[in-house]
Amino acid sequence: MTAQTPAKGCVTCHEGAKMVLFITGICRRSCWYCPLSIGRKGRDTIFANETPVNSPGEALSIARMMDALGTGVTGGEPFLVLERVILFCRELKSAFGPGHHIHLYTGEAPGRDQLSLLTGLVDEIRIHPPPDTWADIRDSPYAESVAIAREMGFSAGFEVPSLPGIEALAPVLPLLDFLNINELEWGESNADAMREKGLELSDGVHNAVKGAWEWARPLIHHPKVHFCSSRFKDSVQLRKRLIRIARNTARPFDHVTDDGTIVYGLIQNGGILPAVVQTLDEGSYEVRDGAIETFWWVVSEFAGEIAGEKSIIERYPNRGIIVEVTPVP
Ligand code: SF4
Repeated sequence: MTAQTPAKGCVTCHEGAKMVLFITGICRRSCWYCPLSIGRKGRDTIFANETPVNSPGEALSIARMMDALGTGVTGGEPFLVLERVILFCRELKSAFGPGHHIHLYTGEAPGRDQLSLLTGLVDEIRIHPPPDTWADIRDSPYAESVAIAREMGFSAGFEVPSLPGIEALAPVLPLLDFLNINELEWGESNADAMREKGLELSDGVHNAVKGAWEWARPLIHHPKVHFCSSRFKDSVQLRKRLIRIARNTARPFDHVTDDGTIVYGLIQNGGILPAVVQTLDEGSYEVRDGAIETFWWVVSEFAGEIAGEKSIIERYPNRGIIVEVTPVP
């Protein structure tokens, strides 16, 4: 098998070190397979990872929290809010330095004038040509846009979902720095279109659509092609990102799991410090919302000496969603 050389942005993403900056949910196109959630699609809102943000400063805080080594700017269509893209990228580069790798997704075919506004702010351009251009892709404005971007010093290529007929992109590979293929994903906003086309989920666990890997197979071993599976995104990329955030935000008594969640003990007793907790070092507990949070093992081992409702909590870092609550009798 030929070794793959993924886009640089993919390498940072593999480490879970790339912040996803969703810069707007609006887009001129209406691809039937668009993976955006109903909450994001068509709405001019900004998210840094999963957190809504209103300013570059808020995005910087999220990037710091996960020790981000780079950012992927996505949407919606970033070129519809180009000034915003410039503002956020400028702040990211000035806070983290030119080495902070920024890639930009677009469903358009930007020309020289638009691209020149991104010089020094964006490192990599990922263009998504619509499937009805694939048959004649070398003569499309999308191939021309990649050529201009490369000439201007950007790394540039295509990013497309794995759809039937994707092998039509083979002739364009010599013109690209990379071709990223995302495994086609079933989502709440595209489910009806998927059903209409007779598509099915590949299993009951992931969002991958049955056949998506097979459609990409003719291209997959080309050295410029990188296939990003739904399984990888769920299990590797998200887990590594959570671990980075957990390490930066965990309190001294939070246990960080191998999955990137945190575990702590909760005592709901009106916020009165039990005697056993009073013997602990400073920083070993926190009184919050009328409850005590401390080491999980304190709650488990000394349950008989602690009044009130007790439980062990597992949740995503930085007060993220609660994954499991285990009552301690
Ligand atoms: S170009 Fe991208 S964001 Fe726009 S509709 Fe298509 S898949 Fe969705």
